[in-house]
Amino acid sequence: MAFSFHVLGTSSSGNCSVLRTGGRTFLIDVGFAWPRLSAGLAALGIEPRQIDAVFVTHEHGDHCGGLPALLGRHPGLKVFANRETARRIGALQRVAPIWQLFDTGAAFEALGLAVTPFSIPHDAADPVGFAIQCPSEGGSPGRKVTWMTDLGHVTPGARAQAEAADILVLESNYDDEMLDLSRRPAHLKQRIRGNHGHLSNLAALDLLRSIRAEGLGHVCLGHLSKECNRAVIVDGLMAEVRAARPAVRVTVFDPLEERPAELT
Ligand SMILES: [Zn+2]
Ligand SMILES: [Zn+2]
Repeated sequence: MAFSFHVLGTSSSGNCSVLRTGGRTFLIDVGFAWPRLSAGLAALGIEPRQIDAVFVTHEHGDHCGGLPALLGRHPGLKVFANRETARRIGALQRVAPIWQLFDTGAAFEALGLAVTPFSIPHDAADPVGFAIQCPSEGGSPGRKVTWMTDLGHVTPGARAQAEAADILVLESNYDDEMLDLSRRPAHLKQRIRGNHGHLSNLAALDLLRSIRAEGLGHVCLGHLSKECNRAVIVDGLMAEVRAARPAVRVTVFDPLEERPAELT
């Protein structure tokens, strides 16, 4: 089984990606209800029991709401999370998977992967992004896949992980004007914009403008708000990135279409 990485979905209605490498199958987040998750896995020819492990970023439902249904079909599933996230999920969902606890910021080895969970500023217990170094396969060097959504701002640590990525999933949550004009209550607007909220289109663009990221081959803009953003807006902003970095493929995950995307 060769390397593949599919984003099945990334938006506030669910985040889930499938990483296949080194003969194993991993999920990053499992925020789909069962019908969508099972359909997404089936389209890739994956049975639930073939999943070796799940890496969970934080306890919000759009990142782990599908865990109970998946565990029901695959009770031996290994679930990697930090202690605080595991505690919250255990309390919220009444699930008791085989937790594989890690410390935020401390790299660890997981079934052939070298994983660095890095802290991200977001209103959850101990939220993380993941930088996952895959093993080399068939003579090609292993890819570094980095998942970075749900962050109120880009910290130096997050920036460093974006710079080191081969494949990057980066949040581009809201358009400032659409958020202003939305019917959302003022406190929610403030929460989204806050230091521990979500990343705006301009903040994502600013990061991509300013990082060196010599190895970056593919960036996927994700976690777009359905109410306060449009894929066409993000796509328009990315014209600058495409022009400046012709070697980098840029994909925008449209939350209104929710078509799975393969990032190569
Ligand atoms: Zn989220
Ligand atoms: Zn969240």
